[in-house]
Amino acid sequence: MVIEYKYTTHGEAETRALAFKFAKSLEENQIVCLFGDLGAGKTTFVKGMHEALSGSADLVSSPTFSLLNIYQGDKVLYHFDLYRLHDADEFLAMGFDEYFFADGICCIEWSERITRLLPLDSIFLTLAHAGGNMRHITITNHDKISL
Ligand code: ADP
Ligand code: MG
Repeated sequence: MVIEYKYTTHGEAETRALAFKFAKSLEENQIVCLFGDLGAGKTTFVKGMHEALSGSADLVSSPTFSLLNIYQGDKVLYHFDLYRLHDADEFLAMGFDEYFFADGICCIEWSERITRLLPLDSIFLTLAHAGGNMRHITITNHDKISL
C-alpha cells in the first residue's frame, strides 16, 4: 500500500514542528531517507526529530565530513549525510549498515548514494523549495521504488 502525505511549511519553525510530530510516531529501527536540494531543509527536519527524541535542542549539524553523527535520547538518532560518500560499497566497508538494526532511528541525507541498500520499509521524505521560506514536504513509503 502506498501512503503519501503532503505538507507546506512557511518557515524553519514549522518544519521543525512537523518533524517533531513525525518523529514521535516512529518505531525503533525505522529508516528515514531525506531528499532535496541544498538548503531545502533536510538538516532542519532532523533537528526537529532530534528535539522529539532527546527532549533537548542540542545543536544538530550536518555530518558532511564525518558522514555520521549519533545523538542519544529516548531513541538513539543516527544522522547520516552521505554527500561525500562514493558508493554503496564504501558504506558497507565502513560497517554503517549495522546501524539499520541498532534499535535507533536512522535519518539519511543523500541516501541516493546507497539506493540498493535501503530496506523496502524505509520512509522517503522530500523537501522542495517553494519560494522564500516556503517548502513543500512529501512523506511517502514508496517514492524511489518501482517494481
Ligand atoms: P539542507 O540540509 O537540505 O541542505 P538545511 O536544513 O541545512 O538544508 O538549511 C535549510 C535553510 O533554510 C536553513 O537556513 C533554514 O533556516 C532555512 N529555511 C527557511 N524556510 C524554511 C522552511 N520552511 N523549512 C526549513 N528550512 C527553512
Ligand atoms: Mg544538510
